Amino acid sequence: LDNHIDIKLLAAETPGFSGAYIANICNDAALIAARRKATFIEKRDFADAIDRVIAGLEKKSKIISPEEKRVVAYHEAGHAVVSWLLPEVDPLVKVSIVPRGKSLGAAWYLPEEKQLRSESAFRQNLSATLGGRAAEELVFGEVSSGALDDLEKVTKEAYAMIVYYGFNKKVGPVSFYDSTGQRDITIQKPYSDATGELIDKEVRLLVGEAYSAAKTLLTENREELEKLAGRLLKQEVIEKDELKELLGERPDGKAKLIELTTTS
Ligand code: ZN
Repeated sequence: LDNHIDIKLLAAETPGFSGAYIANICNDAALIAARRKATFIEKRDFADAIDRVIAGLEKKSKIISPEEKRVVAYHEAGHAVVSWLLPEVDPLVKVSIVPRGKSLGAAWYLPEEKQLRSESAFRQNLSATLGGRAAEELVFGEVSSGALDDLEKVTKEAYAMIVYYGFNKKVGPVSFYDSTGQRDITIQKPYSDATGELIDKEVRLLVGEAYSAAKTLLTENREELEKLAGRLLKQEVIEKDELKELLGERPDGKAKLIELTTTS
């Protein structure tokens, strides 16, 4: 083992991982080091092993046209810029446009081990997740199918905010969550059709607001978006230190926080 390895940092990068998962990562790191005929297992071997466990194998052989690559670079840069500027989104540690598993690019976050999340944190997360799609629209004037996973996540989260956490003023502080697990909300809705319509309407409003917040942030920080996308196209991966150099310190951002949360 290379003695520059910071075990505390490795622990922070693998929150919630089980012992078996961690054993897997160590084993993978050793294999990766052996493959490049190294004498020691280094930090980058662990980084590769963690990425592999989290996101699947790198698929360098996947064929992507230069135009597609540009779309992916701006998409990922969009996630990165929006999340960087929103203080309640988990800190970003890495952005990559190397295809992995079924995804063409990815942004890695370091999840904070918090048990409670505020409504504003939920809203900021929606915006960060929509940042990829928003960047595509802003830069190319049209959008691609690349945001499928993001949109699925956002839709589920927005419904949960209203139907489970009672965050919506019009629907009220009610929750249709069933902790007994006996009722399947997708089959039998525990509310009236009128409430169902209101929920659908409020979900659209909520997601629409999060999307425009993302687009506004990207419009105001277009220069950063361009810088990041350009760098991604050149070197495919950007790590945390370089993100800081390209985007500046993350804002404390109380003002932005208020701006984002005072909506209907
Ligand atoms: Zn995305």
